[in-house]
Amino acid sequence: MKDLQYWVEKGQEMMADRERRIKRARHWKFDTVATHGLYDLSQAQNCHSGSIMEPVYLSSAQAYQNSAEMEAALSYQIPTWAYTRIANPSNFYLEETMALLETYGSDIEASALSTASGMAAIRTATDPFLIKNTELPNPNIVVSAKVYGGTFQQFWVRRHKEEGLDVRWVTNPMDINDWSSKIDAETRFLYGEFPSNPSVAIFDIEKIAELAHSNNIPLLVDSTCASPALTRPLVHGADIVIQSASKVLAASGTTIVGVLIARKNIVSKVGSDEMKADFANWTKLWPFRDNGPALHPMGAFLALNDIRSLRSRIKQMSDTAMKVAHFLEHHPMVDKVYYPGLKSYEAHELACRYMKLVDTDQNMFSYMMSVEIKERQDGDSINTRAFYDGLEMIWRATDLGRVKTVATLNAISTHQQQGKQGRLLAAIKPNAIRISVGIEDPDDIIVDLEKGFSRIT
Ligand SMILES: *Cc1c(COP(=O)(O)O)cnc(C)c1O
Repeated sequence: MKDLQYWVEKGQEMMADRERRIKRARHWKFDTVATHGLYDLSQAQNCHSGSIMEPVYLSSAQAYQNSAEMEAALSYQIPTWAYTRIANPSNFYLEETMALLETYGSDIEASALSTASGMAAIRTATDPFLIKNTELPNPNIVVSAKVYGGTFQQFWVRRHKEEGLDVRWVTNPMDINDWSSKIDAETRFLYGEFPSNPSVAIFDIEKIAELAHSNNIPLLVDSTCASPALTRPLVHGADIVIQSASKVLAASGTTIVGVLIARKNIVSKVGSDEMKADFANWTKLWPFRDNGPALHPMGAFLALNDIRSLRSRIKQMSDTAMKVAHFLEHHPMVDKVYYPGLKSYEAHELACRYMKLVDTDQNMFSYMMSVEIKERQDGDSINTRAFYDGLEMIWRATDLGRVKTVATLNAISTHQQQGKQGRLLAAIKPNAIRISVGIEDPDDIIVDLEKGFSRIT
């Protein structure tokens, strides 16, 4: 009889098979994990008509054979996806792959949750730590000020101004005292970007993770601009990693996707034991389900397809970015270039410690740099705009991590809404241009940059 017991046993078989596939993937190198994840022949034959690629499930819901299976599924006693707002088979494959890649090279256990955007991942990852607690009535969070403009807006406008949360900015994330002096008994978590968008600032992940844990709180790291091909913050002690998979993970630029990846058994002053035991899964089954920032399965499929070639793409982009950074650094119309691979970069040694092409000993520094154009006395962005408007092949857009090179004038785009004060806090100057290097030939990128410089009069 297919009663509850029958389905629970079936569910245990599925879990055991999943464990087998995880074990198999743990023996592989990074490229192999990125290419296959947990999708194997048994999955293909038993569940997907033999399809060699992970299928896209554009179905809103999953059907059950009888009431007992439905009961087992909806009480979360067996693996299920139920309804695409909660979960979806296509999204599972993306999540499993990301959990494996972010823990690659370690025996850390982690799980992941995909969301409709990177911003949704940040909201989803931080909400559970900000719940009401009468013993800690005035929660605060300690956040690096060197963060993406959207992240600044979410923390400052939504969390602080609208919801009254005490948000404490760390203006110099390299300085441990700047972090520690802002932490008190009511701090719920620490948050930083590695490296930051657009100023390419970094911090010592291991030291800040230790600091967080000594205060019984988690460290959350947005590692979008490094990607797991270079830096895996969980391996360095972070508790939760945020990826805007819209960027270099889905470098073709065909979708918006967020992922949060959490180690098992995180520390936190608030939340249930279940939440701490498996943050990503718990969040998926409870607040995420109720709040609804689910990822469309097509987005998971598009991201997964690009992730397969992440490592080789990061290698090519990093090699090209290094050439572009050297070219810019020596150009007479440039004041300063911020790129972790340059000797002139203030935290170059730290960058070398944390940014290595996975499965090699080679330092690589990713695709993003910030360049400050030499300005005239009489205007804070006249030369900068002339250069920017003179680019022909390089796209003018608020985007990054693309296979195509993109340049962004941050003061009027990503950091426009913060106003002068906010830009000062994040150290965004009017003559700063963020360049996200793609996979074109470096010579052609440099020729295009020359065209921009030739417009400065
Ligand atoms: C783009 C970006 C985000 C936001 O991601 P979306 O997918 O655009 O919502 C968050 N963090 C960083 C570092 C980013 O570059």
